[in-house]
Amino acid sequence: MGLRAEIICIGDELLTGGTVETNSAEIGRFLRRRGVAVRRAVSVADSLAAIVGALREATEVDLCVITGGLGPTSDDLTSSAVAKAAGVDCGRLAEAVAEVEAALARRGHELDPIQLRQAEVPVGAALILNPVGIAPGFALEIEGRLVVALPGVPAEMRSMLDSVAELCAEHFVKKGWSGEPRARQIFRCFGLREAAIVALVEPVFAELGLVGEASVGIHYRAAGPEVDLTVDVEELEIADAAALEARLREALGEALYGLGEAGLAVRIAECLKAHGLTLATAESCTGGRVAAAMTGIAGVSACFHGGIVAYHNGIKEKVLGIPAEVLETHGAVSEPVARGMADGVRAALEGHADLGVGITGIAGPGGGSEAKPVGTVDIAVSDGEASHYRRFLFRGDRSAIQRDATAWALWMVFQRLRERGLSSVDLVD
Ligand code: ATP
Repeated sequence: MGLRAEIICIGDELLTGGTVETNSAEIGRFLRRRGVAVRRAVSVADSLAAIVGALREATEVDLCVITGGLGPTSDDLTSSAVAKAAGVDCGRLAEAVAEVEAALARRGHELDPIQLRQAEVPVGAALILNPVGIAPGFALEIEGRLVVALPGVPAEMRSMLDSVAELCAEHFVKKGWSGEPRARQIFRCFGLREAAIVALVEPVFAELGLVGEASVGIHYRAAGPEVDLTVDVEELEIADAAALEARLREALGEALYGLGEAGLAVRIAECLKAHGLTLATAESCTGGRVAAAMTGIAGVSACFHGGIVAYHNGIKEKVLGIPAEVLETHGAVSEPVARGMADGVRAALEGHADLGVGITGIAGPGGGSEAKPVGTVDIAVSDGEASHYRRFLFRGDRSAIQRDATAWALWMVFQRLRERGLSSVDLVD
């Protein structure tokens, strides 16, 4: 039995742009890891009618998680709304009063009678302790659904999620819920558009009879040149799951760079470390974004030497050793300069890196020409044995061009490692 959930976030500020709603994303992630599928998430105003309406609409789910509206002010209406939807009164729970008093005492605050409103919960509700803030949460069964109310403040909500998981286990396991997450695999792809990935994998799903199956979830997420294909399955035999993975690997071919959560930079770092290799970067138009991607990984100093942001031609010449006449003859955005940057940075940094990557381009909005329009980016990767170079023409604004150039530079490093037989797509995390 799979559980279905709905999330209701309460607060006028969520609807007027005052606060960006993040609780549902966080709760969705938390629940998915525990095998609960979120079917819908809504944000509603601080209004009794709106909250009761949202609760009444959530009929197709087993679990309803509400955040917000548990404070002591007149616009905090969650307890009253849940009580109304359940057809019960609200009452002051002695255990809740003790919780509010203890939370205030920990802060050295006097008890203000107004704060006791936070101890009012629907009659019959079970209390959920709030280890971070003052307002406790509560849980109540309404017409077969478990309704859980948590504070809106993200840190408070987060600190109570484990209690929600325990409550769900208590409540649903006796109804046949396994509590096990659906088996899930992420196929990380690079360089093909989403539609091209769909064309490659849809025949596989069709061939294995998985199209339109409620027990199989197929999701695509595109970001620049990367597409993640996530497949989650319920009740698939281990042998079938293995066959599906093998067929998808085959269909995706070279576009597949990894399985699981690890992105390209993590893949590169793992591969460099496994083979005792090091990388250094020379970046112009990406301004250090490739180095930032590498240094975002803990423990990367074992394989990442460092980077030079060679924005001014003087740096390309003096630090990376690109002759002035090469820069003058070919221009800063050119094949010899990109190759020179990749070679130059290997030697420029102390310790001599095994691989160097050089990136030079025009991120715009100004600086383009007919021969080299905005979005022209030259990238080279060198490891002493070979030097690979490609010219790209990226579209979009400055940040999109920088993002795509960063991603392709990482991809070219990965491709070189793959060409040398050093990379694998298997799970590293
Ligand atoms: P409090 O005791 O602080 O009143 P509460 O449960 O009543 O807690 P709200 O007043 O609804 O919570 O929200 C408190 C703050 O938490 C909001 O001002 C907002 O900054 C943040 N917040 C509330 N809901 C969300 C949400 N869904 N996503 C992100 N932040 C939120």
